[in-house]
Amino acid sequence: MAIPSIAQVRKALIARPGKPFDLSARDTADRSLFPDKAEAETSLRKDAAVINELKDMLYAEGKRGLIVVLQGMDTSGKSGTIKAVFSETTPLGMEVKAFKVPSSEELARDYLWRVHNAVPRRGHVGIFDRSHYEDVLVVRVRGFAPLEAVEQRYAQINAFEKHLCENGYTVVKFMLNIGHAEQGVRLKERLMEPHKLWKFNPGDLDDREHWPDFMNAYQIAVERCSTRHAPWYVIPADSRSRRNAMIARIVRGALEDMDLAWKDPGLDPGSYTI
Ligand code: AMP
Ligand code: MG
Repeated sequence: MAIPSIAQVRKALIARPGKPFDLSARDTADRSLFPDKAEAETSLRKDAAVINELKDMLYAEGKRGLIVVLQGMDTSGKSGTIKAVFSETTPLGMEVKAFKVPSSEELARDYLWRVHNAVPRRGHVGIFDRSHYEDVLVVRVRGFAPLEAVEQRYAQINAFEKHLCENGYTVVKFMLNIGHAEQGVRLKERLMEPHKLWKFNPGDLDDREHWPDFMNAYQIAVERCSTRHAPWYVIPADSRSRRNAMIARIVRGALEDMDLAWKDPGLDPGSYTI
């Protein structure tokens, strides 16, 4: 089996903009793109190296930015994805932001304020571990804002992302789609393994209780907010190695589409003697 092309991976995983989307039809354990684990790991390694090089070009150019949005239920692998996909990338020019329960300072503003504030400077790659989508996911499920207000947010988010896109940012969004059973396995692992226990939060069990409501909220968000300028990719996330490989293919594709080249500083190397 050959490594699937970036086009193949995108086509299999995108939620097509403007088309009906059915989350329940997406198999969280789908391995068809990478049946072989060793091949997934090889693909990840190669892509991680290329991502590093392209990210350096982005940094040198300093004119545009990339925003990678990671959303998923607890244990779906948001932090593991960051570790793997950017394992070859120097921290210079990377901006990682984990969005937690909003602070009182944040709640005193509109919900996009903290997100806009976390947009990476040009030349940088920004990774959002959770994002403004929490404001239509957990907020919708838990009723933290009136439903009418939540309903207005999908169009607001699309406008916000279009604004970023028109101002030099590429926005690519991933739903790490883990199955309910696999989450159960991983939550148990967290309780049993000392190096994972710190990630366990009893509140995660409350979210797990509301699984169908969360899936409904994801269904709505992905369907309404997968756009040409900021598409959603729904990643089968029950296998960590395949998840990483698929996301790395798409992140690499996003950087390649920027047509980056080493910046020409307008110097004549021949005119210097060292
Ligand atoms: P974690 O990512 O596991 O560290 O958990 C962060 C928690 O913050 C999750 O339970 C999120 O649902 C919650 N959170 C993030 N953004 C918001 C938001 N805008 N409103 C309410 N809760 C949020
Ligand atoms: Mg958590």
